[in-house]
Amino acid sequence: MSDSTTTAIGIDIGGTKIAVAAVDESGNVSDLRQFASQGESAESIWAQLQVHLHELAKPLRRPRIGIGSAGPIDPSAGWISPVNIPSLRRFPIVDEIRNLDIAEVVNLHGDAIAFTHAEHRFGAGRGVNDLLGVVVSTGIGGGVVLNGRLLPGRTGNAGYIGHTVIVKDGDSCPCGRRGCIELFSSGPNMVNQALRQGWQSPANGSFHDLAESARQGDVTALAVIDDGARALAIGLVNQFAMLDISTAVIGGGVSFSGAVFWDPLLRHVGSEASRVGFIGETSILPAALGAHAGVIGAALAALDPA
Ligand SMILES: [Zn+2]
Repeated sequence: MSDSTTTAIGIDIGGTKIAVAAVDESGNVSDLRQFASQGESAESIWAQLQVHLHELAKPLRRPRIGIGSAGPIDPSAGWISPVNIPSLRRFPIVDEIRNLDIAEVVNLHGDAIAFTHAEHRFGAGRGVNDLLGVVVSTGIGGGVVLNGRLLPGRTGNAGYIGHTVIVKDGDSCPCGRRGCIELFSSGPNMVNQALRQGWQSPANGSFHDLAESARQGDVTALAVIDDGARALAIGLVNQFAMLDISTAVIGGGVSFSGAVFWDPLLRHVGSEASRVGFIGETSILPAALGAHAGVIGAALAALDPA
């Protein structure tokens, strides 16, 4: 144990909950606190966050504070507008925290970039110099590491793979484009596709239910998940070719459904990549940090700013 170990505070802002914790340079998480964000007012969220920040910052004496937030965000202006927290519209979180005067630095990254950063430093992508991190959940986000360094990009959104187009003149996407990967491969969109094809949904019809149907041999569920995995595979291999890399770390709720998702994903990535001569063997790895990736990646925005 050394006194010189730097410990930062990570704030992970998601559509259903906000997590705040102390995270040291080795990725150890302590004093984790969580509170609901869904349906909460901006005043309530900010009031709770302030209490946790003051308590966590006190023993750390002007720590670095990193934020990883659901998007859209603007890291240079320091605001966040998470789609699933309507009360937070262009909330100037960086300035608000700076104004508390408890932190040495306050940095903001997007949540998928924070995920990628965490998995690269301490998770499945440890020791891999070049990789793509992808979160497959309600939406599909991502991040890029090249030459061992996180690459947030000009506006802090590099790796935003969900709204890259794989079908020219495909269905309209809420983002305004057509034929985006997210239309095929996000959890809710796979569920909607299955329902359109006559899948008899049990209970509330979540992706969890769809995966269970597929496990029991439901032909429609299997076909829709296969199609979603194939769309994602095409998108991954597009990025592999673009960046001349061969490794991706995949996390998010959909990725936790096991073989029913991973088998077709690996098969399709192998098939797509084999046609791009220079990619060679691909490595598609399940995320290793679980729920902690969010606060760890958030803290890394301050500990190891890109
Ligand atoms: Zn889109």
